[in-house]
Amino acid sequence: MQALDGNLTTPNAQAFRHRVKTFLAENLPAHIRDQVNQERMDLSKDDQRMWHRIVRAHGLACPAWQKEHGGGGLSDIELYILEREFALAGAPRPMIYGANMLGPALIAHGTAEQQRRFLPGILEGDTFWCQGFSEANAGSDLAGIKCSARLVGDEYIINGHKMWTSEGHIADWMFGIFRTDSSGRKQQGITFLLVDLKTSGIVVQPIQTFDGTGIEINQVFFDEVRVPASQRIGDEGAGWGIAKSVLTSERFGNAEVSRSLASLERLKRFCADARADGSRLIDKDSVARRLVELDMALGAVERTEIRFLFHSNGEAGSEAALLKLRGTEIQNAILAAAVDLMGAKACVEIADGDPAHPEHARASNAFKAHMNYRKTMIYGGSSEIQRNILARGVLEL
Ligand SMILES: Cc1cc2nc3c(=O)[nH]c(=O)nc-3n(C[C@H](O)[C@H](O)[C@H](O)COP(=O)(O)OP(=O)(O)OC[C@H]3O[C@@H](n4cnc5c(N)ncnc54)[C@H](O)[C@@H]3O)c2cc1C
Repeated sequence: MQALDGNLTTPNAQAFRHRVKTFLAENLPAHIRDQVNQERMDLSKDDQRMWHRIVRAHGLACPAWQKEHGGGGLSDIELYILEREFALAGAPRPMIYGANMLGPALIAHGTAEQQRRFLPGILEGDTFWCQGFSEANAGSDLAGIKCSARLVGDEYIINGHKMWTSEGHIADWMFGIFRTDSSGRKQQGITFLLVDLKTSGIVVQPIQTFDGTGIEINQVFFDEVRVPASQRIGDEGAGWGIAKSVLTSERFGNAEVSRSLASLERLKRFCADARADGSRLIDKDSVARRLVELDMALGAVERTEIRFLFHSNGEAGSEAALLKLRGTEIQNAILAAAVDLMGAKACVEIADGDPAHPEHARASNAFKAHMNYRKTMIYGGSSEIQRNILARGVLEL
């Protein structure tokens, strides 16, 4: 592979890549790898936890956290290599809500006591978290949240409703933003709280989506839910700033360049395989051209990501927006191409893994993934919102 950046080919980088490849070859369970390589979206909670614990046992869980918090303490280059090798090997995404979103916020804004209480559960894979930001009328306009938290004595009392909560049905806890004051600007009066989902007064209601991959998102209702004030991160009214930092990490993560590279590799292999009549899709000019176009577009995002990660001043805003926008557009274009090239088989609903029709199951999974992944252009801030951020930041409007 041609080196994309000198940082990735130093002896240290190569030694680290070797360590990760060896770990994956020896430890990634085959049934999990096959599920990921089949573009399946429904890894069970048990499998997610099992994989997290294997990764943890090898010192690679929460790799971006500093060592004093139990994390991997990896450099940006090592993190990049880790993500790339995991994706190419068919390893599942990490449990992002705790490790990538709440963890860094707790490390930056939590008290020592809160860090001692909540970080170990994330690190060990014991606690599943979900993100309670969006509401029915506050998604793009997130600062418009209304779900209220009223301080009474040393407890907040929450009333209202959160919407589109991914993994809320399997999560143990939620980190979320709540309205504690409505009198000033809407960005003020927002407070960041940690909520145990077993608390009385909470109802988690799954939402069935049309892609056929199983339950993923939920709405969560709060009725007089009492949350100790000790579970507030940062000051009352300071939640907006914390939420924005969480969203910036989410947008970088959502670019999913590594996963798209893996997905495109699988598609290329599919097109290069001989079909029953001996012909190969790749030999058609139109197919080859489509793959090359995807390859070039993804390569451009990959280089942009490297430039931001290794050669920028570390500030992220427009950069995160640009990567999220282009990364998710290309991710969706790859899955759309997979569905087109797999043809009608992709649209037939056939039992997954049916040994008589493995190619049908694969095509059916690609179709579900194609439908499911439209979400990536919505969550974490829709494509239109990313364009607005870019217009303001890059064009200095
Ligand atoms: C599968 C899925 C999982 C999700 N998981 C979570 C989660 O775990 N936690 C969580 O908190 N949230 C989650 N979300 C919510 C997600 O962040 C919101 O859906 C998203 O921010 C869009 O908000 P909305 O749905 O209210 O749409 P709206 O904000 O109502 O937008 C509707 C349309 O109008 C466009 N639009 C809105 N405002 C503007 C503008 N100013 N300029 C141009 N166009 C505009 C949007 O781009 C969109 O096309 C999830 C969403 C999905 C689909």
